Amino acid sequence: MHHKEYLRCHPRSKVRCLDILGIDGDIESLTSFVGRLAWHHSIKPSVLVCELIDPGKSPGFCNLEIASGFNSMTLKTGKIIGRVAAITGEPIDTVASMTFFHLHDQIEPSARGLISHTKKYCPQCYCEDVSSACRYDRLAWSLQGVTHCKKHNCLLLDKCTHCNASQPYLSTKCEIGFCHYCEQALFSAYPKHESVSGLEKSEVWASLVRSDFDLENGYHSDSIQVVLNEVARQFYPLSVGAFADFVNSDRHSAMGWLSGEMKPALISIQRVFDRLEIPWTNVLTGRLNLKEIVEMTQKAISREGVIERAVLRKENPRVRDQDEPDVCMLPAKRKRNAALSQKIDRYLDQIIGGSVEPTSRARIAAQFCVSVGYLESLFYLKVKRISEIYNHHLAERSDRRLDALRSEFIASLKVTYQAGNPPTWKNVCQHFHEDMLKRYTKTEISNVRKEILPKFFLFYRRDKAELAESY
Ligand SMILES: [Zn+2]
Ligand SMILES: [Zn+2]
Repeated sequence: MHHKEYLRCHPRSKVRCLDILGIDGDIESLTSFVGRLAWHHSIKPSVLVCELIDPGKSPGFCNLEIASGFNSMTLKTGKIIGRVAAITGEPIDTVASMTFFHLHDQIEPSARGLISHTKKYCPQCYCEDVSSACRYDRLAWSLQGVTHCKKHNCLLLDKCTHCNASQPYLSTKCEIGFCHYCEQALFSAYPKHESVSGLEKSEVWASLVRSDFDLENGYHSDSIQVVLNEVARQFYPLSVGAFADFVNSDRHSAMGWLSGEMKPALISIQRVFDRLEIPWTNVLTGRLNLKEIVEMTQKAISREGVIERAVLRKENPRVRDQDEPDVCMLPAKRKRNAALSQKIDRYLDQIIGGSVEPTSRARIAAQFCVSVGYLESLFYLKVKRISEIYNHHLAERSDRRLDALRSEFIASLKVTYQAGNPPTWKNVCQHFHEDMLKRYTKTEISNVRKEILPKFFLFYRRDKAELAESY
């Protein structure tokens, strides 16, 4: 009995859990962990992923897709983290530290511009891993902006030096450290030492990796929305427009960020804080607190004399700085973009309000000649809401469509029963209209059959019993 009680209060993991390799900035990526987990249990990574972690996924998943799902900060990443935690028994937070999910609530949760298309690796790091028994891929290597290994000051490689093929994040053929195609050692490559500028940029990007050190020491809790609001407030007495102009953004987006209706994309964060000369990764990861950010913003504003100039111009409209661009001339493209985004905004509101029939993201994007990514980055919340409405709409429509099939099915069943035949597939279909089989797919018919048969039996039995009683 004890044993049963024990099993009940301790949920069992499906697989044996491995130690996560690397600490702090050197922590391994989730794809690397899942790969090692699979080989440890002597099963192929594709089997582990398709059976336990992401059921329903076809084994032919491609490179970027798996990294943008596993190592990233998207909604999908959240689901994957939950699954991996469930099957290994590791705490969710520990699994999440192998991804960038800590940025999920801060910026527009997309892998665009964040995760690199192909796997990169440092041959030196692989070499040193051999001595410590296990090779693994660092999470930082998945980042698009990381091109160098900061430990060895060398360029990361993205191809096999033997056969020149790009490497998948999760090889289903061989273990980490070997080429997926020619199966030769990747760690035998000679490291290339290159420019310092790339090294600095890599370090900035690599600081996006969440390390436990940061968690303890002053991760501030202010969301990026609060930070941006505080930054925009420093432009007082000028409007939000002055802030938007200063950081080279359009007003519509800026208003969206400040109201929280829209989350800024990664690239917007880079642009805004680069313009203010504040290290953007430190803002995102909370290494700078709000006070420091505000001080740095004030410096940037006073350095360029933005407010003084605007006030001066207001007092005396004819005075205009030589170096200041003409407001009417410069941002033609920006004006066009703002007009377009307002137009899209109105259209989305109409769909949400119900005056326009909902449609898919791709259709909306195509209608305004923009990409789906652009649409999502500008109107994240609205697009999400529309997707829900659209899915509901589709479900309702297919339900209405099936009504005709349902009544046809019941009629056929009745005829079959009256003829005294069992309700087999063949017997029931015999009484169908010919065009029914053409109008509906086999799956639809079979689904309706599954839905109707039990109900029908219930009624039929009651009928029979009543009949028997009356005799
Ligand atoms: Zn290295
Ligand atoms: Zn190769």
